[in-house]
Amino acid sequence: MTELLYLADGDAAYTQRFEARVVALPPGAIVLDRTFFYPTGGGQPADAGRLFRAKGGGSWPVVDVQRAAGAVLHRLGRPEENPKPLQLDEPLQGEIDWERRYRHMRLHTGQHLLSARLFAMTGRRTRGARFSGTGGTIDLEFGLGELPAASEIERDVRRWIEENRAVRTRLVPLAEYATEPPSRSAAVGVPPGIDPVRVVEIDAADRCPCGGTHVRSLGEVGGLQVHPPELRAGGEARISFRLTGALPPTPPG
Ligand SMILES: [Zn+2]
Repeated sequence: MTELLYLADGDAAYTQRFEARVVALPPGAIVLDRTFFYPTGGGQPADAGRLFRAKGGGSWPVVDVQRAAGAVLHRLGRPEENPKPLQLDEPLQGEIDWERRYRHMRLHTGQHLLSARLFAMTGRRTRGARFSGTGGTIDLEFGLGELPAASEIERDVRRWIEENRAVRTRLVPLAEYATEPPSRSAAVGVPPGIDPVRVVEIDAADRCPCGGTHVRSLGEVGGLQVHPPELRAGGEARISFRLTGALPPTPPG
């Protein structure tokens, strides 16, 4: 088992360095007792970064991160030097590629806002969402009919970002969550065995069960460009979006 430190609370998403111990060494990968590296899931790509040996030299690039039966597999690239092989129980330091992580945080919160506002405007739920690089897609139920123009969606979302609404992460007991599941994500359901449910809330705009990493306030999203919807083979309307607005000169850490 790996302790998933990035889930702890909203502030955990901003941690860029941490210490951990090696607990398993499957071929080409490493399992730590705890990690802040986000593994691919929920439409959000994996983190990248580096692992450093605490004593004795050596560092390895982390090129992919995946969940596997309660553990997190950090797939390693070629080390720069030629260090002695990693050993079980060794202490390591991890460093997250912050530019990549912060972009994913902005995209993920931007996606929640867009899904929430599309639900508020049209009553349609998001069936699937994914993002990478500087953009992503949302697949909405019920096809193209009577969707607002992309410019109208963009204007609506901009107002919320300009108001810089707070984004919070709460752990809600399943029994409490089940009495009032968030309406826009009722279709998604909570996987069996999850209790409490991690809920990401945007002040006055949204509640959504989610295990991803998010910014603390909508202003950090910067801005979203929204493209006209396209009809998918499965009957959903696909809406593409892109981050606009420069990153803060020094992203908050
Ligand atoms: Zn999410």
